Amino acid sequence: MEKLSNPQVTIEVIKKYNFAFQKRFGQNFLIDGHVIEKIIKAADITKDDVVLEIGPGIGTMTQYLAEAAGKVYAVEIDKNLLPILADTLSEYDNVTVINEDILKLDIEELIKDEKGTLKVVANLPYYITTPIIMGLLENHIPAKSITVMVQKEVASRMQAGPGGKDYGALSLAVQYYAEPYIAANVPPNCFMPRPNVGSAVIRLTNWEKPPVEVNDEKLMFKLIRASFNQRRKTLQNGINNSPELNFTKEQVVDALKELGISENIRGEALTLEQFANLSNILS
Ligand code: SAM
Repeated sequence: MEKLSNPQVTIEVIKKYNFAFQKRFGQNFLIDGHVIEKIIKAADITKDDVVLEIGPGIGTMTQYLAEAAGKVYAVEIDKNLLPILADTLSEYDNVTVINEDILKLDIEELIKDEKGTLKVVANLPYYITTPIIMGLLENHIPAKSITVMVQKEVASRMQAGPGGKDYGALSLAVQYYAEPYIAANVPPNCFMPRPNVGSAVIRLTNWEKPPVEVNDEKLMFKLIRASFNQRRKTLQNGINNSPELNFTKEQVVDALKELGISENIRGEALTLEQFANLSNILS
């Protein structure tokens, strides 16, 4: 079969199976082979790799992944896509399609007998980008990297450093677990149907060891959430107003003093290292 990245082939398959796009599943299928090649290159896929693809759709990127990787597990929630995938992936014997919600799947169990290097690759359904990525990171899925298409604005937030408007809890959470790299910007006309937003390919390379030392990760993330929940307030007020935290004003002022940070600083000015140090002092 000619590849689905040819829009004509995608249209034929959609018609043949009378497939109706489901907005609720964030279905925007890729129709551009160059973009898929860029994703495969950014993810650095080789025959030694086991790829977990989230949401294969009709199998457009899966066809490329099957050629580049040793093994592909493709997890798709929409059962209406299963007969299509059986057809479009029939030439590849190294792909296993799993009809499951990625948020419910036990990934460790799935790959427990695999010897290759795990890499996650996906054109993500945008309505659940953050839960999917944070789930993979927080659960310490043993993947070397996560290379995903996301909304352009979300990619900027993941990569942002202190001070700018994009910097926030997502930037810090992602950067605690992984090193982000934006590999490409992708316009709406590379998808069918076209999304209303611009997209970007971002690769997150998991750190072998976190870049900062933290005694109590949960506390650090509570401090981060507290300081960005009230962006316009000072860090100190954010922490004191947080229902998740129980520090006196004095404790927070003393901790900031110990770190040599101004009492009036806003959370958005603090680096990951400063949040880690603050949390170590308060813990
Ligand atoms: N990979 C295909 C491509 O690039 O053409 C499709 C990408 S489309 C943006 C997202 C895919 O994720 C859809 O096929 C959708 O049905 C699937 N999906 C949505 N929610 C999911 C979930 N919770 N678990 C697994 N797959 C999901």
